[in-house]
Amino acid sequence: MTLTGHSRIAGVIGWPVTHSRSPRLHGYWLRELGIDGAYIPLAVPPDRLDAALKGLPALGFRGANVTVPHKTAALAACDSLDRAARAIGAVNTIVVGADGTLAGSNTDAMGFLANLNQESGFVPTGKRAAVLGAGGAARAVAWALADAGAGAVTVVNRTLSRAEALAAEFGGPLVARPWPALAEVLATADLLVNATSLGMQGAAPLEVDLSPLGANTVVNDIVYSPLETDLLRQARGRGLAAVDGLGMLLHQAAPGFERWFGTRPAVTPALRSFVLQDLAP
Ligand code: NAP
Repeated sequence: MTLTGHSRIAGVIGWPVTHSRSPRLHGYWLRELGIDGAYIPLAVPPDRLDAALKGLPALGFRGANVTVPHKTAALAACDSLDRAARAIGAVNTIVVGADGTLAGSNTDAMGFLANLNQESGFVPTGKRAAVLGAGGAARAVAWALADAGAGAVTVVNRTLSRAEALAAEFGGPLVARPWPALAEVLATADLLVNATSLGMQGAAPLEVDLSPLGANTVVNDIVYSPLETDLLRQARGRGLAAVDGLGMLLHQAAPGFERWFGTRPAVTPALRSFVLQDLAP
């Protein structure tokens, strides 16, 4: 699609931003839907973040995604926040209003749930979930599960104090357990989510014994590079439902696209394979 003077513009702000798959993903939807618009990578260092965000309305941007390391710092620059962004303490999607204000939201939680449901049919209501990790992604996952009515969300983390702080902050069904208690936690889990960076390309492997899991437990690794992690391989080997992390990335992008470009895009197998081509080692 050729850009015109009426093109709608959005982008992703990160530092560095070269790793981001979002331009490829949004670019696919823009082409597929024939929209007169562009979505561009915006490399912004931390000390320019505020200026960059405040400049979005002046430049006529419809909005932007915000990625590492800016998700927390972006909160302060927004004029309003949705429930998820406020609770999780991080913004990944910003919409510029007609009056030039910035509305911040967090779509990671919704993207996580939408993918889990699409790929495995899992519905959190009343279920018991084990979440590995207590970093930024784990916050979104744990909040999403609690908000969706999970009966128990047990956060297991190398640094127990971080898991305890998270459980104390969110309350409700969240409890914190130390890593050595994992086997006991897994024995009653309906869902296991890896939200640590273990298993990621270049990171240490995630070593978990899945034998305590019941036959109906769903295993979701939100790491998506590599796509097929050892955790997922092990889960499939045991005949368990295994959900990879790519779908979360795809689903979290849809609400922003809809707000900026006016059409709700679909997460399809064709989109998945297009983004996958870029992830292949
Ligand atoms: P983060 O804030 O840096 O948190 C990292 C987590 O991993 C912490 O809980 C940390 O434990 C744990 N960890 C790191 N190294 C460890 C080790 N050697 N042994 C045990 N635990 C270790 O990272 P994040 O932003 O939450 O991201 C986590 C992962 O989620 C990344 O792989 C990222 O790519 C993925 N992610 C995927 C999506 C998606 O759309 N699919 C979205 C966001 C993130 P401590 O607290 O003890 O340090």
